[in-house]
Order: sequence, then structure tokens, then C-alpha cells
Amino acid sequence: MYLHGLDTPIEYLKGVGPERAKSLKKELNIHIYEDLINHYPFRYIDRTEMHSVSQLTADSGVVQLIGKISNVDTVGEKRAKRLTAVFSDGTGVLNLVWFQGIKWVKPQITNSEKFLVYGKINAFKGRLTITHPEIEAVSAENASGLAKASLQPVYSTTDLLTRKGLHSKGIARLAKALMPIVDQSLKETLPATISEILKLGPRKVAIKNIHFPSDKIAYQKAQYYLKFEELFFIQIRLLKLKKNRQLKHKGFVFVEVGNYFKAYYNEILSFELTNAQKRVVKEIRKDLGSGKQMNRLLQGDVGSGKTVVSLLIMLIAIDNNFQAVLMAPTEILAQQHFKSLASDLEKVGVGCAILTGSTKQAERKIIHEELLSGKIKVIIGTHALIEDTVQFKNLGLIVIDEQHKFGVAQRAKLWAKNKNGIPHVLVMTATPIPRTLAMTLYGDLDTSIIDELPPGRKPVKTIHQYEKHRAKVFGFLKEQVDKGRQAYVVYPLIEESETLDYNYLMDGYESISRMFPLPEYKIGILHGRMKPEDKEIEMQKFARGETHIMVSTTVIEVGVNVPNSTIMVIENAEKFGLSQLHQLRGRVGRGAEQSFCILLSSYKLSLNAKVRLETMCRTNNGFEVAESDLKLRGPGDMMGTQQSGITDLKISNLVTDGKILGLAREMAQKILEEDPSLEKHPLLLNELQRKKKRFKNWSRIS
Ligand code: ADP
Ligand code: MG
Repeated sequence: MYLHGLDTPIEYLKGVGPERAKSLKKELNIHIYEDLINHYPFRYIDRTEMHSVSQLTADSGVVQLIGKISNVDTVGEKRAKRLTAVFSDGTGVLNLVWFQGIKWVKPQITNSEKFLVYGKINAFKGRLTITHPEIEAVSAENASGLAKASLQPVYSTTDLLTRKGLHSKGIARLAKALMPIVDQSLKETLPATISEILKLGPRKVAIKNIHFPSDKIAYQKAQYYLKFEELFFIQIRLLKLKKNRQLKHKGFVFVEVGNYFKAYYNEILSFELTNAQKRVVKEIRKDLGSGKQMNRLLQGDVGSGKTVVSLLIMLIAIDNNFQAVLMAPTEILAQQHFKSLASDLEKVGVGCAILTGSTKQAERKIIHEELLSGKIKVIIGTHALIEDTVQFKNLGLIVIDEQHKFGVAQRAKLWAKNKNGIPHVLVMTATPIPRTLAMTLYGDLDTSIIDELPPGRKPVKTIHQYEKHRAKVFGFLKEQVDKGRQAYVVYPLIEESETLDYNYLMDGYESISRMFPLPEYKIGILHGRMKPEDKEIEMQKFARGETHIMVSTTVIEVGVNVPNSTIMVIENAEKFGLSQLHQLRGRVGRGAEQSFCILLSSYKLSLNAKVRLETMCRTNNGFEVAESDLKLRGPGDMMGTQQSGITDLKISNLVTDGKILGLAREMAQKILEEDPSLEKHPLLLNELQRKKKRFKNWSRIS
């Protein structure tokens, strides 16, 4: 009935039945035999070492003994009721005690057999005792198996399953029952060439040893196999997606570097590009001329100059008679891009407009028309650009700033805006993301990295201070402002309690207003409850130097550029995530003067918060910050990962398995280069299709 045994519904497994099957499905997503096999233990009890009673002290910890159990007795009444027994292995004796499960344990103990006893030693009234030991009869037949099953699997389970007898051991029993089927019918998934190169051995051995490893080495090998396999299939899927796209979609060919580009580059651009910027422009130009559709991720630290790169690329699009879109995640950012780019674009004669949620209807109509006629060549905006009413004459390039805020479906909608083909796509991240995460999350994109800041930047000095020293900190802020510089004071934003945050911000605003009285000092305020126009007005005032101190929530987080601001004080810095702190810090240090970022916190700091603040003080390098952030939070909580499916990794770990991931990607690349459609690798193709069917959320990555 079922093809290879492992696709049999779980209820058919002996010891499961319909009731438990229902719970297994609901609680652990285990539907068929194979799912259970893929439910790997999350740790192991080490049973490689055997102890003898004579060596033991009260501090011996968890021990494993072999011997006889005698003097079994139930003593005490009601809540004090317990089962006691004496264990002896010939070198000495100790007590065993059970308070719970007496009626299960008692019948297991017989005088004739030897027992394996496992548990933590303690001393009770001067006698060595193990409370709630695990015991297992050692009959002749499993005595030989004993030495082998030295690492005992521990499975994750749930309360409900435990109540139905499927505690870790219960699950282990089921897994064990499946091992003969694994032996018989588990198929290889990896090409023989890879298994040989990496000395991976057969898959069934890996599966058997991940559940019931014979020793530590066997376990490590199994773990390596399964980690590689997991990461490899993600990579092959992403890279295949990329290949398919390249094969399917011809890219518009941008051959010309024409007058617009040259005019801007030679006459308007007021600084020399950094070497990293030049390299990246070259990489992108190569894509644009290749005849393949570009899908490239541009990573660079805060302030590394991604915008000008995107502008140059947009000019190339226009030189080739295409239009370009620059999409930002917020109104403020879109406005800012527009402000900084529109005048330059107009200087070289490129029509440019902005379209956001707050664009008036009448204006909108004109923009729609001019996009269709081709009069507008660059359109800058927010999500509003995605709407179906926005159509183009000939859209050739999409630049997405600060990608993580956009969903996959939104990307796809933009793609569809040229009937003759798919526009080139350049995605820019707000801050660097760790290498392993980039490879997984954006594994279907090519990557360019700007790893160099424009010259003359002084690294921001970051200092952690306790709130007690707030007066001193604001005294320093005053010195800066009196020197003619501008300052940010940032308050946390915790979405669950907007009102509280708001009050907190307002309190802060008031006390700062008292500290910095009018007319000498002007203070601006910026928060999420303001209308976009008002935010814009405040931001503009600050940008023009009309306000000296900007009191704000994290709405200034991304992109905003005011080079004269040299100091930022972050209140309750312990409440911010690491990437967010780094992004905020990027608002200062944009001019020639020395800048400061002061992190204020309470004394009560979690270990995690301490590491965050220390990391900020230690390094200005966004790539380092990102790695540290990944270590602290794990991939699941990093921006953009929640809906990506990579949090479903079963066995590998993006923090520690970077090497295996690199290898997996390399191998996947090699295979796809030689065999893009995988027709020579039916095993892989088959497995990919199977996985796709079984894990629908995989498709969400791309
Ligand atoms: P980000 O990568 O964070 O988006 P921006 O593109 O906003 O950074 O650039 C930050 C600032 O650096 C801008 O004021 C920009 O004009 C300036 N800039 C960019 N490239 C250079 C360069 N090569 N030399 C000098 N200044 C530069
Ligand atoms: Mg930017």
C-alpha cells in the first residue's frame, strides 16, 4: 500500500494507534514514519562510563552502575509514601528511592536479574542515595547491546504526549521500532560523488546513529552528515531557483554607459568613490550587460555610501531608455532619498518624482500618467509604488532600500510591472547581516559588499553610562551643542505599550526642555504618532540646523542623514536590540567632527544586555555587530527571518555551522554548474520535489 514503508501513516506503527497518532500530528507534526525518523534527539545521556559504588562520593553527580536490586519495600503513608530498595554491585551498597510512579517501578524489579541503574547521587542521612533512578533490566540478550547503546537519546516532547505515555523514552521506543525499516528502505538523498568526497557513508547509518549512536564518534559523524544534508538541500534549492530565473528570464541588456551617467559622474558627483564602491558598481554593471536578469544583494555598513551606488546604476538604466524605481520602507526615508537625489537628477535632466501614501490624489494622477508616458524616469517611494495603478512605460531597474521590511509577495508585484520582461533588482540592506544568514536568507541572490567607509570619517566613540550619571552625560551633550553641533536623544519603543512609551518620551522631552531653555536652544520631537507631514517638517528643521536637539523614538532609525549631528544619547539602551543600536548609532559620525554615542542604562542588566552594550562599545564594524547579534539572538529572532522558514532548521545551527554551510553551498554550486536542470541527478531532483511537497513553508523563503 505504501511505497517504501517510511511513508506509512504513523498510526500504523505498533504502539501508536489512532489516539496517540492524533497527538503526534498535532503536537510534533509527525504524520508518517519518516517524520518520526526526522524527529532527532535534541541531546543524549552519556552512558559510556560505568561506575562502581566503592568509588562514589556524595559529589559524584550522575552515575551509571550495574548490579542487583534487593530489599524492595513501600514505606510511609500518603504524601510520604515511597518505594525504597538497596542496590549492590559487589563493591558496595547504596539506597534507591522513588516517590512517584511506584506502581510502574515496583513490578519491574526482580531478584534474579541484574540492573543498569542511572541517576544522580546524593547523600541522605549519611548514605549514598539515588532518587528516581532510571533502571533497566540487563538480560543476557541486551547485555551485549548495552555497551553499544552508550549515548541515550533524549527527545523533545510535550505535556500532552507525556500524559499519553510518549515521554522521551516512549518516543525512543517508537524510533527504535522503525530502525529495521530504515535499514530496509531508507533511500540515499545525496549524490554518490558528494558522499564519497566528504566520506559521509550511507544515509541509513547516519539516521541510525543520530537516534541510537554506538559511541561519540558515530554520533558526531551522523550529526555532520545530517547537518550537511539539511544545509545542502536549502542551498541547492536556492541556487536552482536562481539558475531557473536566469534561464527563464532574459535580462534587459544595459550596454550603454551613456550621457546621463557621464554627466553625473563627471560634473555632479562631488567626491571620489571609494574603491569598494567602484568595485561594486563594476560587479553590477557586469550583471546588467550579461543578458541575464540581475538579482543582487548590496550589503554595506551604515554610512558606507550605498545610495550613490544605486543612483549610478539607475542612471545606467536611464541611459538605456529604461525607467528605475527606488523603494524605501518608510515615508521619511523615501522623502530623504527624494530630497538628496532629485536635485542631482534634475541637474542632469532626469525627471524624478516621489510617490508615497500621503501623495495627494491629483498629484498621483499626474505621476501615473507621466510614468506611463516615460516623462518620469526615476520614481522614489514607499509601498505605494506596488499598487496596481502604478504602471510604467518601460521599467528596467528596481532598487529596494532596507530590504527586510518588504515581503516576498511585494517583491513579486514589482517584478510584474514590465510586460516585456523582468526588471533588474538591487536589494540594499540597512545594516550588514551575518554571512551565514545572508547565504540562507538571500541565498538566491548574488552578493556585493561595500566593506570600506568613505575617507575622513572618524569612528564614533561609544560609551556606556549608568542612568545615575545622566546629569554628567547631558552636561557633555550641552558642550557639544554649544560648539554648534546637533544632538539626538533616543527613547525606546516597545510596541506593546505605545502609550507608556509615549508618556516616557514626553517626560524626557519636558525635562530636556527645562535643561535647554529657549530661546537659546531649540528642541525638536519625532515619534510614531505624528502625521507624516509633521514628522517631515521636524526632520527638515533639524536637517537645516534650526533645531539643536532631536528628541525621538526609533523612527529616526534608518537612513536619516544629518552630518552636523555629533552626539546621540540612547535612553534605556538595554531595551534595544544590537542591530538596532548600531543602526541608530549610524545617524552620527557622518561628518568630519568626532562623534559620540552614549548608551544610558539602569544597573539591572541581563547578561545578554551586558554583552550587547559591550559589543557596541567595542566595535564600530557592522559586520562584527551582526555576527554578535546572531550569536545572542539566534537566527529566529533576527530581522526578516521570522517568515522565512529558516527557523525550521532541524539540526544545523547558523551560528556554529558556518563551515558546513560554506561547503554545502560550494557543492551545490558545483553540481548546478555542471547540471543546471539536475537531469543527471534524479536523486536530488526527486528529493527536492518531495521536500517541496512536504514542507510548504519552504516556498516562503523565495
Ligand atoms: P548608507 O550606505 O548608509 O545608505 P549613504 O548612501 O546614505 O549611506 O551615504 C552616507 C553619506 O556618505 C552621504 O552623505 C553620502 O553623500 C556620503 N558618501 C557616500 N560615498 C562617499 C564617498 N565615496 N566619499 C565621500 N562621501 C561619500
Ligand atoms: Mg541608506
